Amino acid sequence: MQNRHRGSIVSKEELSFRDRPINLNESGARKWVYAKKPKGKWYRRRSVLSLVLLAFLVGVPFLRVKGHPLILLDIAHRKFIIFGAIFWPQDTLIMALLMLSFILFIIVFTVTFGRLWCGWACPQTIFLEMVFRKIEYLIEGDYRKRHALDKGPLTTEKFLKKTLKHLIFALIAIAMTNVFLMWFIGSEGWLKLIKEPVAENLRSFSIMLVVSAVFYWIYAFFREQICTMVCPYGRMQGVLLDSNTIVVSYDHKRGEPRGGRNDGDCIDCRQCLAVCPTGIDIRNGTQLECINCTACIDQCNSVMRKTGKPEGLIRYASEKNITEGLFRIWNTRNRAYSVVLLLLLSFFLFTLLTRPEIETTILRTPGLLFQENPDGRISNLYNIKIVNKTHERLPLELRLISHEGEITLAGGAMEIEDQKSYESTFILYLDPGQLSGDVTHIEFGVFSNGELIENYKTTFVGP
Ligand code: SF4
Ligand code: SF4
Repeated sequence: MQNRHRGSIVSKEELSFRDRPINLNESGARKWVYAKKPKGKWYRRRSVLSLVLLAFLVGVPFLRVKGHPLILLDIAHRKFIIFGAIFWPQDTLIMALLMLSFILFIIVFTVTFGRLWCGWACPQTIFLEMVFRKIEYLIEGDYRKRHALDKGPLTTEKFLKKTLKHLIFALIAIAMTNVFLMWFIGSEGWLKLIKEPVAENLRSFSIMLVVSAVFYWIYAFFREQICTMVCPYGRMQGVLLDSNTIVVSYDHKRGEPRGGRNDGDCIDCRQCLAVCPTGIDIRNGTQLECINCTACIDQCNSVMRKTGKPEGLIRYASEKNITEGLFRIWNTRNRAYSVVLLLLLSFFLFTLLTRPEIETTILRTPGLLFQENPDGRISNLYNIKIVNKTHERLPLELRLISHEGEITLAGGAMEIEDQKSYESTFILYLDPGQLSGDVTHIEFGVFSNGELIENYKTTFVGP
């Protein structure tokens, strides 16, 4: 059946393109996407950027700033190092501001440039399109050959090609898991782990195998469905995109009526569809499944060159750019978001730059009240924890600055290595005459080389 649509004749299939998820056929089974290998300037640019980002991903765990990892997300020890600066659980406000700024940055970026991140920098796209699919092109050939191989009988050639491909996929999945692991335990921790016998690290080894199996399954079988059905960022596009957002778009004003019968530039060759890794037809307009990978831009540009028409029938453009000829990046919405983002970032930077060099926590030992000593003095037992956030080794001294008292520290002198924490206990003795009731408010000072670097207020309990 055919219908009139935008002045051209289109099939029922094209009009009903939103009736079901793009990856399913009419009977609800998975529709495998045999994407044609992209070729063109945008693909070359993306390939170069992918190499840079892959080098970053693999290289970061080995990079050091003043002897510390450039980035380390040590969740087990609740310690995060970002560009050499260490963040502890005590830095909740800074981390929350960083997280908020990051979320708002994503919103501003998406409102302005759509899913640019998905097409150019998302690890899922980089690994699928630039690693796994390139291996598939090498072993099984381009889309028609791959389709024929899958539909054909099991021959020796098919068996060998499939075995080789899946073996390489599995090895890359294991390598990926180990690289990600290094981001969480550091390259030194990872080296230590792999040098030890497997029997001593069975739990870690099993986790590594399970994560590798998940990666393998995603890139060998699940593939683009991560972007079209699972990724929450992809699902947010409906609320973030508007008519000013610059996305990969089909210029329907120029292209229609399609088919070469009238004046439209689109010759309806469906090459933009053949090359799409998510299997959509960009001529149906901006869709949730479009990851802005630019493959259709390259493909259509090559068709335009062959037909002697100007390039850019599919290009980066906003809806307003196509309908009204306006091309502008800034509008009221993204300007307003940017102002809020700038304020948040300024507050984040201020908090980061003014955070104390050390973070002290002094708490009375739970379950103990006070002790009356033979010399008549009253004592309380405390737990102390100090985090050194500087890149220097700090000799520290704890003094009571609000009253006359005596501190007996367990373990001797306080010295903390850079970016490390110190934990101990101490007893504070006070004369009964200094107490102002059941609870006396007191203040400690933490000194380094005779200089006061932090104050800490707490309480002392007495009879
Ligand atoms: S590649 Fe270009 S000319 Fe061919 S169908 Fe797509 S939009 Fe039309
Ligand atoms: S429509 Fe074009 S840009 Fe969007 S996913 Fe498909 S090929 Fe990539």
